[in-house]
This record gives sequence, structure tokens and C-alpha cells, in this order.
Amino acid sequence: MPYELPVLPYPAASLEPHIDARTMEIHHGKHHATYVANLNKALESAPELATRPLESLLSDLASVPESIRGAVRNNGGGHWNHTFFWNLMGPSAGGEPSGVLAEKIKAAFGSFADFQSKFEAAGLTRFGSGWAWLCQKEDGSLCICSTPNQDNPLMKGLVECPGKPLLGCDVWEHAYYLHYQNRRADYLKAWWNTVNWSAVAANLAA
Ligand code: MN
Repeated sequence: MPYELPVLPYPAASLEPHIDARTMEIHHGKHHATYVANLNKALESAPELATRPLESLLSDLASVPESIRGAVRNNGGGHWNHTFFWNLMGPSAGGEPSGVLAEKIKAAFGSFADFQSKFEAAGLTRFGSGWAWLCQKEDGSLCICSTPNQDNPLMKGLVECPGKPLLGCDVWEHAYYLHYQNRRADYLKAWWNTVNWSAVAANLAA
């Protein structure tokens, strides 16, 4: 079993009232756990891949045997995306970034408010299930995009916006339906209160 479900970095209830405890428990303990289990199952037939970092598999899915490529894309993407997502949220978070990250956001989008509007639009206009992202492109500038399903910007050649993910928001219904029902826009607005900008800045610096 090369991959394990990571422990949530904070109590499930600590993102309330923005994200409720039950949603966090099911999202982490059921949905994320299933991606991990199915990723491990897929890799049983290709144990040589289990020693490669997950980022390496996702950024070069062509090197994954075709028979399990779809399973690694969906479940490896699901595991990576959710681990990333938990780590960039936190209790007593929100507000605005500072330093280099704030400067880069201003350079790319004009203002923090304009950035938020564009990011929310990316999440809202993703039809069905997927993610909204803030990424750093190869030229160092920032961009906003969205991906379907469990795809992410690491998947070069497969996604419209290859790059280094800095911030991602899960817009699958399972991320918000219990509390917000069909109101994805309300979830996105509330979600800003959970963003730990220090973690986002660390992703930029990494
Ligand atoms: Mn999810």
C-alpha cells in the first residue's frame, strides 16, 4: 500500500461555519479515502510506479501503462488534489496575502478583488465536477483556470493550463452540497475565509 490517507491537519469542525464538520468528515474520510484505495489498487499491477513520487506520475501520465492510466489520472489526481486542498485551508484563516504573492496577484489580475472574482468565475463556470486553480506558469506569471474531474495543472499535455498549482478549490458537489445544496457561488464566497495564505505563499516559494 504505497499511499495512505493523510490525517486532516486540523479538526473537521474547525472550518465552521464556512465548511461544516460533516462535510469535512465525509469528504476526507470517504471521498479522499476512496481515491487513495483505488490508486493503490491500480498500482498493484505496476509496482515499479509505486516508488515514483505522485507528482512525477501525474506530470508524465504517458509513462503510465495504458491499462491503468485512467485510474492513476482520476485517483492519483484525486489523492494529490485533496491533500493539497486540506493543506491550504485552516481555522482562523482568510484575509489577503502579503509580500511577493500579493505583488504577483496584483500584477496578473489588477487587484485582489479582481483576482477573487476571476477565481470564483472559474469555479462557477466549471460544468459538472472539477477544480478552480491559481497557478504559476513557466514564465513565472500567475494564471487562473479550471480543470474537470480530478485533473490538475501538473498534468502537462492534458490540461489547458499546465503549471505549478498554488491554490485550488474543489467545486465537486460533495465539497459543499450538505450545507450549501446547489449554491456553489455561496460556497465559493465562504471558502475564502478558510484560505491559509501562508500555505499558498509557501507553494509559490517551493
Ligand atoms: Mn473532493
